[in-house]
Amino acid sequence: MGLPAGIVDDMALNAHIPSGPLESKWEKHQFELKLVNPANKRRHTVIVVGTGLAGASAAATLGELGYNVLSFCLQDSPRRAHSIAAQGGINAAKNYQNDGDSVFRLFYDTIKGGDYRAREANVYRLAQISTNIIDQCVAQGVPFAREYGGMLANRSFGGAQVSRTFYARGQTGQQLLLGAYSSLMRQVEAGKVTLYPRREMLELVLVDGHASGIVARNLVTGQLESYAADAVLLATGGYGNAFYLSTNAKACNVTATWRAHRKGALFANPCFTQIHPTCIPVSGSYQAKLTLMSESLRNDGRVWVPQEGGDQRLPAQIPEEERDYYLERRYPSFGNLVPRDVASRAAKAVCDEGRGVGTTGRAVYLDFADALKRDGEPVVRQKYGNLFQMYEEITNEDPYRVPMQIYPAVHYTMGGLWVDYDLMSNVPGLFVLGEANFSDHGANRLGASALMQGLADGYFVIPYTIGGYLAGRTHSTQDTAHKAFAEMEQAATNRIDKLLAIEGNRTVDEFHRELGLMLWDDCGMSRTAGGLEAAKGKIAALRDEFWQNVTVTGTPGELNQTLERAGRVADFLEFGELMVHDALTRNESCGGHFREEYQSDEGEALRDDDRFSHVAAWEFNGVGETPIFHKEPLVFENVALTQRSYK
Ligand SMILES: Cc1cc2nc3c(=O)[nH]c(=O)nc-3n(C[C@H](O)[C@H](O)[C@H](O)COP(=O)(O)OP(=O)(O)OC[C@H]3O[C@@H](n4cnc5c(N)ncnc54)[C@H](O)[C@@H]3O)c2cc1C
Repeated sequence: MGLPAGIVDDMALNAHIPSGPLESKWEKHQFELKLVNPANKRRHTVIVVGTGLAGASAAATLGELGYNVLSFCLQDSPRRAHSIAAQGGINAAKNYQNDGDSVFRLFYDTIKGGDYRAREANVYRLAQISTNIIDQCVAQGVPFAREYGGMLANRSFGGAQVSRTFYARGQTGQQLLLGAYSSLMRQVEAGKVTLYPRREMLELVLVDGHASGIVARNLVTGQLESYAADAVLLATGGYGNAFYLSTNAKACNVTATWRAHRKGALFANPCFTQIHPTCIPVSGSYQAKLTLMSESLRNDGRVWVPQEGGDQRLPAQIPEEERDYYLERRYPSFGNLVPRDVASRAAKAVCDEGRGVGTTGRAVYLDFADALKRDGEPVVRQKYGNLFQMYEEITNEDPYRVPMQIYPAVHYTMGGLWVDYDLMSNVPGLFVLGEANFSDHGANRLGASALMQGLADGYFVIPYTIGGYLAGRTHSTQDTAHKAFAEMEQAATNRIDKLLAIEGNRTVDEFHRELGLMLWDDCGMSRTAGGLEAAKGKIAALRDEFWQNVTVTGTPGELNQTLERAGRVADFLEFGELMVHDALTRNESCGGHFREEYQSDEGEALRDDDRFSHVAAWEFNGVGETPIFHKEPLVFENVALTQRSYK
């Protein structure tokens, strides 16, 4: 098939990967990067949008280095960023268990887990840095779980046969964020970081093609405010809420990255969405949120469905020989710990066969009976107590007595703004960190690797690479009096006024829910060319209707959450089209992107390495217009591309 209209094959997309052997690329690059001397650091201002693990770690570290940092977030406190929700743990190649782990194995597992659609050099650096992250966090006082003798404890996550996941019960994100937050507040106290909570970045400001500031809306007063800097860092998280129902915090959105995309930043692999296999199933059409049951539960919980379809018996009444532990059966080596994309598709397959359980038939059991028998309730409670409690509060069922019911849900987005090895987008001075960038997870992220990546980006990569950019710039932080700021403030005002003037008949949430369903049905766990084609048209029509018929109450100059949500849904509507377009043009199956037309005889994802071993980076070409394609070819010199097998 030829390339669709509008596609430009641009070989100039340069990831700036350092030369030399994989193991020494990062060290060599660190040495070669220009340094900014301490006196000059004081003269540079850096904007960091986002205070999750990526943003808070970056802002704290840059402040510590001597830069002046302006830190923005939507919430009333940086501590409430979505990272706080992370449950299960953070990976690191410490090999404390002496079970065969190494930097290379973590690198290999991540490349394979991502279905060979990530950059080798970035992933290797991530594996190298992973060990430093744990030391850094322990020094901050993060209370990781420990063995009786005092050693840090580990558990296993999907896609790995070693135990390399460090954790703080089911609250790892919260504890890591408290660590990053305390470092951040130390710099606030030192006068190096200024916090701007309850601000929403609405526009990126470019001066002479360089990222030079932002326009943000003060969410309390409604005022638009301009901020200037020598570089802008976006650490604004993922866009899973495009699907409306997801495990993400309700505030997660695509606005910051989409606004930057509209100013020229390329959006990479937007169709790579992670569907997590272990979430509490949807229970009603008015539900606004889905809840994750951490992957760590699959260390001890066994996934099964009845062997026969339509079996209405209670789980306890179904004897062992009439159960199908389908993951253990299909994937004997990895069993219940296959990666998320594989486990999600397998759950969908058994439910499609009519063997799903629960009132909707769209659930499978996650059963702890064996673990409870083997280890006893106190041990299980110690490991997973808060998760079990959360499950019981939501479902009113006690998982110590009956198996949990779980089903896949949207959880994480591997796509994001395109960045080079330095985490800089194609817009000079615009860096992107954490879930907001596309960088390290290919087509499927392994569990416990998002926290690792966010903290690697913030604590250990950006402090070096930003110097390489700033050292080459003169110290002339743009003044917000520059006309580019006024222009972007005017653009933001016009958009807000337009939203408020529509006075239509449908709520913002109605549009969002409808968009989410379209994406879930046609660009969710499995996709077809026909479904994607149809979705493109439906999303475009919904977007048109939104701008004619949405109702946004209140005024611009006040706390107005309807207005906030309307702006975000408007961006999701534009973004949804890009996601679908990306999925349509990737004529292969890989990781979380499963095109039904491309599968093996056993129903596994079938890649097409000859034609699609690349990053698809899209350039904005106008609303409703075909985006322009740029290709970053992926070169694998250290791992052999094989059909992924977890059997
Ligand atoms: C329920 C759940 C459990 C998880 N558990 C794990 C786990 O155990 N291990 C693991 O590795 N990963 C886990 N993940 C994934 C992981 O939590 C996230 O990928 C990661 O925390 C993202 O961090 P971040 O810093 O990139 O972004 P976030 O934590 O999402 O922070 C985004 C920040 O950007 C700000 N922001 C966004 N838009 C704007 C704007 N326009 N203007 C101003 N500010 C803005 C927000 O206010 C916030 O401060 C989990 C995810 C979920 C949903």
